[in-house]
Amino acid sequence: SRLINRKRARSYDPDDIEQPPSKKLADNSRPDVGVLQRLDSPIIGLKNFNNWVKSVLISSYAHPALLRSRLSRGNRRGKVLDLGCGKGGDLTKWTKAKIMEYVGADIAAVSVDQARSRWEGIRAPRFDASFAALDCYTESLTTAFSPETLSQSFDVVSMQFCMHYAFESESKARCMLGNVSRWLRGGGIFIGTIPNAEQLLDHLNDIPADSQDLSFGNSVYKIRFESRDHRGDFGNKYWFFLQDAVEDVPEYIVLWDTFVKLASEYGLHPVYKEEFHQVFAQNRSHHEFGPLMVRMKVVDSSGESSMDEDQWEAANIYIAFAFQKN
Ligand code: SAM
Repeated sequence: SRLINRKRARSYDPDDIEQPPSKKLADNSRPDVGVLQRLDSPIIGLKNFNNWVKSVLISSYAHPALLRSRLSRGNRRGKVLDLGCGKGGDLTKWTKAKIMEYVGADIAAVSVDQARSRWEGIRAPRFDASFAALDCYTESLTTAFSPETLSQSFDVVSMQFCMHYAFESESKARCMLGNVSRWLRGGGIFIGTIPNAEQLLDHLNDIPADSQDLSFGNSVYKIRFESRDHRGDFGNKYWFFLQDAVEDVPEYIVLWDTFVKLASEYGLHPVYKEEFHQVFAQNRSHHEFGPLMVRMKVVDSSGESSMDEDQWEAANIYIAFAFQKN
């Protein structure tokens, strides 16, 4: 078995990260680790950081799109589509963005049920929500949602930590982009978080030519390629491990240029792309996102981080992006 621990086989879910030992971060460009946080669950720091990045993305790109739609269309309702919504880990973030309607889909029916329960548990202000189990990479939204649910276009589509699974094949990536774009209004925003292909491939290239072991990582994560060769734009598989949280799951490289070119066929054009470390550097002193980092326990009030160095490195295997529809 390739299992790191023998819990459940599942993909990386920022809601589910558990703890490794903590170390003091060496470099001033990184947040320091506090004693109290070290006694706490350090991997919670990575989870909190990932959630903070998603909040920054939602507030910076989705929120303005929602606001614009409300301003320009009178009583038009701010409507969000969350593909690969998982257990609804972002529902609170969408509550804070004051949306009026949320539509969530995920291939895992159990997760969808949990997301629905989570929504039912949210106290006012409430928004309407529809949930469905759907393979968003092989099936159209019309298979799972009523014409009424889809009759009014979305202002925002969000795909967090899940879009890369569609890059198994061109047909899946096209189906996914069709679902993203078809019901997104003109001027609407598509946001997401995906692994950073450039960095993954750089790491792969750094492995000595005579090495049979095509893996790299640290105490928190491990990535293993089966081959040095690229098969083309799609289906470039690697295996992903996250200690104490994720077993060996297949994931697929998303080459940024391939993604941009394909997305343009669906009327989507990039407006933002940043590594997670850069999201941190650019927003740590922001009047809203700085204090939010403390509230979300990424750092404590003195600026000490809950992430150790290995978690900090693991955080940067992801990038955040935003596209706008023509
Ligand atoms: N977006 C959520 C978040 O940020 O908390 C969950 C992210 S989780 C890492 C990845 C999600 O993608 C899982 O819930 C998984 O079931 C979903 N997923 C994978 N393949 C999918 C597909 N073909 N269609 C819909 N969802 C899919």
